Amino acid sequence: MSVPLLLHACCGPCSLEPLRLLREEGFEPTICWTNPNIQPVAEHDLRLHTLQEWAKDVAHVEVIVAADDRDAWEHGVAPAGFDRQRRCRACYALRLSESCRVARERGFTHISTTLAVSPYQLFDTCTDLLVELAGANGLTAVVRDFRPYYSAATIESRELGMYRQNYCGCRFSSAEATIERHEARDARKAAKEQRKKQAGR
Ligand code: SF4
Repeated sequence: MSVPLLLHACCGPCSLEPLRLLREEGFEPTICWTNPNIQPVAEHDLRLHTLQEWAKDVAHVEVIVAADDRDAWEHGVAPAGFDRQRRCRACYALRLSESCRVARERGFTHISTTLAVSPYQLFDTCTDLLVELAGANGLTAVVRDFRPYYSAATIESRELGMYRQNYCGCRFSSAEATIERHEARDARKAAKEQRKKQAGR
């Protein structure tokens, strides 16, 4: 018999592989959306819509839309600014706490998160929090390292024509991602110049 599990989902593309793998293991996941970190609001709504469409048309899984407490995020997470470790820890804690609250309220015994699929997340911080918060709520944390399946999820989500974001969610991550893209572009340009110079010798 399959075991009901509440799966916190950060977005549609990151849900593909965790849902498949958890089902294969014998869990029966219900998705929980609580992501007040996503800015701006239009981006938040687009990611939620993408998740809901896929859940309804492709995955056939229920999506519970829980609280998206933007004030709590601004007060509890934003002050950490560009201190990524501190900021992401507070951000995971906010979202996983709300997921645990929903799980308890709805009678789930097991909980997991799709955050564990992305190599861009702080895996250890996130999973430690999941275990801690699940325990405090009388739940069993289903900790899995889904990261080896990230590229499969990328390919599949492209094939499905899903919207794919290029930053984690908050305004800080948007700025960090922009800087990283510029740095990568500059490095490529410098390498090209170097190759040209060497060829001209
Ligand atoms: S980078 Fe992602 S996990 Fe970290 S604070 Fe921003 S939205 Fe939250």
